[in-house]
This record gives sequence, C-alpha cells and structure tokens, in this order.
Amino acid sequence: MNWITNYVRPRINSIFSRREVPENLWHKCDECGTMLFHRELAENQNVCTQCGHHMAITPRDRFLHLFDGGIFAEIEVPAPQDDPLQFRDQKKYPDRMKAAQKKTGEQEAMLVASGEIGRTPIVAAAQDFSFMGGSMGMYVGNAIIAAAQEAVKLKRPLILFSAAGGARMQEGILSLMQMPRTTVAVEMLKEANLPYIVVLTHPTTGGVTASYAMLGDVHISEPNALICFAGPRVIEQTIREKLPEGFQRAEYLLDHGMLDRVTKRTEMRDELITITRMLMNQPPAVKGALPAPEPAETSAETSAEDAVKE
Ligand SMILES: [Zn+2]
Repeated sequence: MNWITNYVRPRINSIFSRREVPENLWHKCDECGTMLFHRELAENQNVCTQCGHHMAITPRDRFLHLFDGGIFAEIEVPAPQDDPLQFRDQKKYPDRMKAAQKKTGEQEAMLVASGEIGRTPIVAAAQDFSFMGGSMGMYVGNAIIAAAQEAVKLKRPLILFSAAGGARMQEGILSLMQMPRTTVAVEMLKEANLPYIVVLTHPTTGGVTASYAMLGDVHISEPNALICFAGPRVIEQTIREKLPEGFQRAEYLLDHGMLDRVTKRTEMRDELITITRMLMNQPPAVKGALPAPEPAETSAETSAEDAVKE
C-alpha cells in the first residue's frame, strides 16, 4: 500500500490542487458556460463578453463604473434598532446579519452615495442582493429616506438600482412598514420636482415592487431581469397552468407596458446621463469615459470617422 499512499495520492492531489488555482482567476458564465478571465469580466461590469448574460454586481462595483472617475461620497444612513423582534429561525437574526456582513464586507443591503455622472450631479442608491437577498428591512427604508432627503437638499435627481427578494421576514411588520415609508420618501422628490429614476436589476421581487421600485418617473431594466411581486413558481402552483415563455422577465414587461426601457449594463451610464440631463433641463453631456475635455472628444470622433473612410 506504500506505493499508493506515497506516490499515487500525492500525484492525484497535485492534479486537483493545480486545478484549484485557475478557479479564482476564471469565472464560468452561468448562461453559456464560457470561462471568463476575472479582470476582463470586472472591466465589462460582470456582463459575459460572449453571450451578454448579466451576472450580479455589488453596489460598490456598480458605483465605481457609474460615477465619473469612480469617485463618489457615501451618504450615511441612520442605523435602526437591532433585532427588534428577537427573531430566531434556524439561526438568530444577529448571527445572520454578522454572516452577511462578513460575506459582503458591507454594513447592510443598501449603499447610498452622491457624485457626478457625465458631470451631472446625482444621488444614487443601490441594493445588494448578496446581502440577505437584498431584503427590505428598516435599514433599507432609512437608506431610501436618507437618499431622498439628500437629493432634495442638493436639488439632484435620485437614481435607484433595485435588487431584492422582498421584505425582511426577521423584522416582521416593521419591514412591511418600509413600503409606506419609502413611498412617502419618493413623494418628497415629486414635491420638490426632482426626477426619480429606477433601474430594475435581476431579481426585483416581492414588497419592493409594491413600493419604491415601481414609483419611478422612468423605469429602466437590465436585460432578462426577473421583476415580479409573486414569483412564477408560486403563480404556476396556484393557477395550475403553464406560464408563457419569458413571463415576468424584463423584455416581457417592456412589451406589456410595465417598463420604459431595457438597457444593457454597459450602456446604462450613458442612458442615465441623457435622461437625467433631459429631465433637469441641462444641455446634452459629453459621453464616454470622463473626465475628458469636450474638444478632445469631438476630435477623437472625427479621427475615428476618418479611419473608417480610409
Ligand atoms: Zn455567457
């Protein structure tokens, strides 16, 4: 048996450990199975370069791509009371929170920031699905109120990126209270005549779609995002009928008048710049990566055109 333990096993181990190394560097696309180099994937905002599948992106990474030069100022969110119901399922609620904080490196399921996109000042909020399913609890409610108050104070539009599995059950009725609270926050923006734009990302489901995620002046979605109140599985089991292809996906909702646009993540920034500037009565912005002076941008365009002609 010495031959097996001393020779075969180390060989087998070395083969498997060698395979472990590229796993950190390469990411497999869930949709087409292509192996994507992590740096290339991050540069493309977690969109598959082969098939265009939109993978999850953290709010912080999203903001790095969204704001000019990746610079933004985080807006502080008032902390709510910890574990008001002393909730416990298989795990205590505070333990779940600690695990989620460790996993994501974030304090809670929403990040609020102010900054500029295409030299257009905005306030943005983004929900983190990897933090307890982006669930809407008291913190998310406070975050949306803080974002709306900041937008009103600075007279800026608010752009919200939604991603949620619904209300946070560990906070019971207090999480459901966030629906009217956030609705009032959105109303504050409307009273101040400021645009409120919602970007729906995969998945936006549950109570979120019954409040702030569906109250925007403009609703844009990322491709193939699931957007619904009750999920397709629940509906299928309830009505005992097969649902149509692509039901409750972004493109289906666009066809049925629930959305204004479906836009790729890589084109979202330019689209948001156009919309916010239009709604704020500002002249059109220079597109592309900023900061870049205006004359350089036009000369780059003409040289590109010349190159095509040649
Ligand atoms: Zn793919």
